[in-house]
Amino acid sequence: MASREARKPRILIAGGGVAGLVLALAAKRRGFEVRVFEKDLSAVRGEGQYRGPIILHGNALAVLAAIDPDVARQVLAAACVTGDRLNGLADGITGDWFIKIDLLTPARKKGLPLTRSICRMTLQDILLKAIGSDTVHNRSKVVDFREHQNKVTVILGDGREYEGDVLVGADGIWSKVRAKLFGWQDAQYSNYTCYSGSVDYVPSYISTVGYRVFVGFNQYFVACDIGCGKMQWYGFHKEPPGSKRKRLLELYEGWCSEVVALISWTSESMILRRDLYDRDMIYTWGRGRITLVGDAAHAMQPALGQSGCMAIEDCYQLVLELEKAYVKCDCHDKHADEIALAIARYERKRILRVGIVHAVTRMAARMSSTYRPYLDFRARMPIGRS
Ligand SMILES: Cc1cc2nc3c(=O)[nH]c(=O)nc-3n(C[C@H](O)[C@H](O)[C@H](O)COP(=O)(O)OP(=O)(O)OC[C@H]3O[C@@H](n4cnc5c(N)ncnc54)[C@H](O)[C@@H]3O)c2cc1C
Repeated sequence: MASREARKPRILIAGGGVAGLVLALAAKRRGFEVRVFEKDLSAVRGEGQYRGPIILHGNALAVLAAIDPDVARQVLAAACVTGDRLNGLADGITGDWFIKIDLLTPARKKGLPLTRSICRMTLQDILLKAIGSDTVHNRSKVVDFREHQNKVTVILGDGREYEGDVLVGADGIWSKVRAKLFGWQDAQYSNYTCYSGSVDYVPSYISTVGYRVFVGFNQYFVACDIGCGKMQWYGFHKEPPGSKRKRLLELYEGWCSEVVALISWTSESMILRRDLYDRDMIYTWGRGRITLVGDAAHAMQPALGQSGCMAIEDCYQLVLELEKAYVKCDCHDKHADEIALAIARYERKRILRVGIVHAVTRMAARMSSTYRPYLDFRARMPIGRS
């Protein structure tokens, strides 16, 4: 029987990373009933240590402000502004700038917040507090789901089951939801390992430089101010397993002092290593009442610092579309169709933009790691001889 009393769809979210938590926040603020299932909230700390920051550009920060102005204010206050200083690309060996990117002028013109770096744990704390602990089920691994005509059931590793109207896979690059939807596909190894470290170190250039990518051949290096007298760095390299700091100093031997100093001052235990994967772009993210957001949908390499920002944008768009489904639909029986249409609209509206960022990210990763002078001017031809 059709009921006049429309109920907002209940949203089940697999994964409580950036995408899962931002989606939960956006959906709750619009009055949806939400449950997040996260296998291990402490994973954001990475090997039990400070895992480092995430850079949020103006696009993602503006979306956060549209979702919840108070959360956005907390994020802006806790983060370190890098977008008001020099950012760009430099030669890894000489340290000379290639490209200085002005992030300040376009942000001001568009009225966007300035790019910032924020500790992932701080971001997680702010989001969790705003969402409420009753919404997030920690130590809850999603192992399967079942689709029915009028609902979807999520199955957890310990046998618990939960019903909802929509299931969103926000479970990252190794997404279980995606694997069940489309079959298991291997992620693509980028051929790069990423060492990273954070260090209590205030370089002399701190007041003028926010974020710099030092480019090289088969390796590149990123340095970023994260505030409170700390610097974060990432060293990317084609790499067999081995020890960390010693190996890094070998890899970056002869590079400029800005790079070598950061590695030298970081203790072995504060250096992390992670192999980088991404996935080819796919152009369908869901089926019926199930869809994907963030890395589950479109995992990218970190070369542009936009992958997490795209996840935040996904969440906003998805909730807007689900909201429209609820407004349109005055009876429960029509929900299934409206939900499927809303999810299809969400995908259509996101895929072109994300596809472009995905392609440019791969190009940027390649560009940063294939730089070497094409002509060696030191070996001059003797003048006057043929
Ligand atoms: C070195 C590095 C630096 C980066 N820097 C930036 C940056 O500066 N700016 C930026 O925008 N992006 C950056 N990124 C990318 C960014 O980290 C990701 O795009 C972002 O974390 C994606 O968020 P997500 O929630 O989709 O996935 P994830 O962050 O991977 O979260 C997925 C969550 O799902 C959980 N999970 C997985 N499987 C299950 C399951 N079966 N059941 C329940 N829970 C599950 C996981 O525990 C995890 O908490 C960087 C990436 C790397 C590797």
